Parts: sequence; structure tokens; C-alpha cells
Amino acid sequence: MSSAGKMEQNVTDKDMGMLDSLEKGPWPSHITELKKTKYPVEYYAWGIAHKYSPWYSGSFRVKYVFSGILARRSRDGKVSETHFRTFSPAGRFLSTSYLRKLVEVADNYGIGLVEFAGNTGSIVINIQSEKADSAVDAIRAIMGSDVGGSGDTFREFYACPGQALCEYALYDTMQAMDFFRSNPQIYKYLNTQMFPYKLKFKFSGCPLDCATSNARSDFSFIGTWVGAPYVDEAALRVMIESGKVDPKELVARCPSGAISWDNEKREIKIDGSKCLKAMNCIKQAFPAIKPGKDRRIALLVGSHAQAHYGPRLSWGVALLDNYQEAMPFVLKTIDTYVDNAPRRHRLADLILRKGYRVISDIAQQTLPDKPKATPSSHLRFTTGVVLSEDERQEYAEWSKGLLKEYYNEGGV
Ligand code: SF4
Repeated sequence: MSSAGKMEQNVTDKDMGMLDSLEKGPWPSHITELKKTKYPVEYYAWGIAHKYSPWYSGSFRVKYVFSGILARRSRDGKVSETHFRTFSPAGRFLSTSYLRKLVEVADNYGIGLVEFAGNTGSIVINIQSEKADSAVDAIRAIMGSDVGGSGDTFREFYACPGQALCEYALYDTMQAMDFFRSNPQIYKYLNTQMFPYKLKFKFSGCPLDCATSNARSDFSFIGTWVGAPYVDEAALRVMIESGKVDPKELVARCPSGAISWDNEKREIKIDGSKCLKAMNCIKQAFPAIKPGKDRRIALLVGSHAQAHYGPRLSWGVALLDNYQEAMPFVLKTIDTYVDNAPRRHRLADLILRKGYRVISDIAQQTLPDKPKATPSSHLRFTTGVVLSEDERQEYAEWSKGLLKEYYNEGGV
């Protein structure tokens, strides 16, 4: 949209009408909530109508705060917006008293708006620029949190709720996150921009990887196990006979063909050497099929969505008995990254430039007794959900329908 870069941002009734349509329906609407704050919704309407961000990025400085403050200005220069990133408790469990303090800061120093920014894990408070200095003090004094996690630092850590809420969790993700974040050697990088670019930590309790660490994190910790899933034959038989589980479906949806079904004996067999930890059988037949009992934590490095050489998934490094034993590896990898990566290169860029050797040498020095993984070895950590053909089709139709409805386009 070539005209979008121009300074004109005349908001029409049609633009505002698009906001109205987002308020229709029985579900909560973010537009209704935005209208209750001092957020300039007309710029948001302009952005949706033009399919183009209404903002230019900008910067804003507060004394002695070196990270976590972002600002932007509308394309016509009339409105600016400043926001602070603050840190969340692990698992993002927020007590009601903490939420009240958060709202107090947002009301008194901001525009009455707080965002819980998806995968970054940060809580973002939109601040009035003229109150920015005192807002930092208020966040520290009232909330007991701090401002940080943007720029060339550690971004906010993220852990799935793991054992606090989820039956699949194979280790305590929240404790692991606190263990790493509170280490002084790591903590010092939360607010001070001393990296070539950003680094991220994410912790997922099982291979479903709700923290999306395998795709979005420089250091990933994913709960897993060795061998086949654990099968409670009696419980599985009950689920099959009652029609809750279709054994043929279990076989068909296993991505590696590890499952076989003996129709005469009414038994399934899972070949542990083929199991890719895709979690399909476990999701379908839990609790009759559960993760195996020989539990480990997969340590992976180097994934990201944006960097020099494009998006990529993680490299597997090792299978750990506990997350604490990764600390020497993590600290040495950080030092190697700081010493060797050019500006704006992520850890994966360094690995791609220098070879996986840069990681395997560190693993050899710091994790000498652990089973290692290299890009070509048999030890693969496969995570994520596999959609069936029908589900994929359904999703494609749904997304096409949305594009047609809103933009009269044919879809992807
Ligand atoms: S990653 Fe696994 S353990 Fe964590 S919330 Fe998701 S399903 Fe549960």
C-alpha cells in the first residue's frame, strides 16, 4: 500500500466501522476494552483498514534504564505512545494482589492499558511519556518488578505452567526458569545490553512444547523420556472397548510408524526406538498411554523466527537428568556468543557461520557424560503436534474464509 507511508491518516467512518464489526458477537472484544482506555483507537482503525501499521517505531529514554522501554509515533506525527516491558512470575501465575498493583500503576502512570504479550512473557504497560521517570520507580516500589527485556539483552524468560496445571509435565518448568533467571551471571544481562543481539530462554514441560521453545528460543529445555511411552494395557483396553480410543487411529497418526495393533490379541505395541515423542498417542489415550518413566530434559539451542539467515528450529544438544547440570554449558555458550558473534547475529547465526562444532565443543567440555545430539545423529528431539489431513484442510478453509470475508481476497 504505497500511500500508507504518507503522513495523511484521515480516519473515515468506514475505518471506524471495521472496529464496530470487531465488537459484534457473544465473545469479549479487545476493541470494547481498548475504548475504555485512553488508547487512540482511531489509529488502530486506520491500521486495520489500510492493512498497514499506523505507527513508526521510535525511542524514549529514561535515566539509568537501559532496556525495556519502547516508543512509537503515529505516521502523521500527532500521537506518540510509550510502553514499558516488565517481568512476569514463572508460569505467569499472577496473584490478585499483584494484579491490583499492576492496575494501580497502569491507571496512575499510564493510559489504563496493560498487555500480556503472548510468547515474550512480558507484561507491557502503556505509560504516559511525561510520567515515565516516576513510573519506573512505581513499578519497582509498588509491584516489586522491574523494567527490561528489550534490545540486546535476555528477553523475558518463559515457562509453561508445567506441573502446576498440566498432567503431561515431566519436570518443574517454573522452578527451572527461576533457577536460571535468578543466577547473577544471567540476571546481569536482563537490563544491560551487552549481547550482539537478543537471547531467549524457554521451558516446556513435555514435547508438546507449549512454550514454543523449539522454534523461538536460543536455549530450550523440553521435558521428554527415553524409549516408548508407558502403556497401561488394562486401562487402554477399557478405553478401546468403550469406543473412546480407536486403535487404528493411534496407528495412523503416529508419524514414525512406531505403533502396531494386534487385532486378535487386542493389544498395541510401541517400538521405543522409533518413537519421536510426537505425543499423538498420549493425547488420544491419556491416561492409558503416558510419557515413559525414564524421564529426561532435552537441551536444545539456536532457534528463532528472525535473524540473519532466516527462521529455523533448534539443534539438539544433550539429554539431561536435571536442568541444573546445564548451567556451565549455558554460561560458556553465552561467553562464546558475546566474544564471537557480529552485531545483530543470533546464536543460530553464529552456529551457521562457524559450524555446529562451536556448540559440540562446549557440550564436550561442560556436559561430558551426557548423550549428545548433533544435526546428523540419531538422537533427534521431535516436538510439536501433527495435524491430521482433515484438520489441515479445515484450517486452510477457515483461514481462506477469513481473508474472503475481511478483504475479499481468494486466500492463501
Ligand atoms: S508443554 Fe506439556 S507440560 Fe507444558 S503445558 Fe504444554 S502440554 Fe503441559
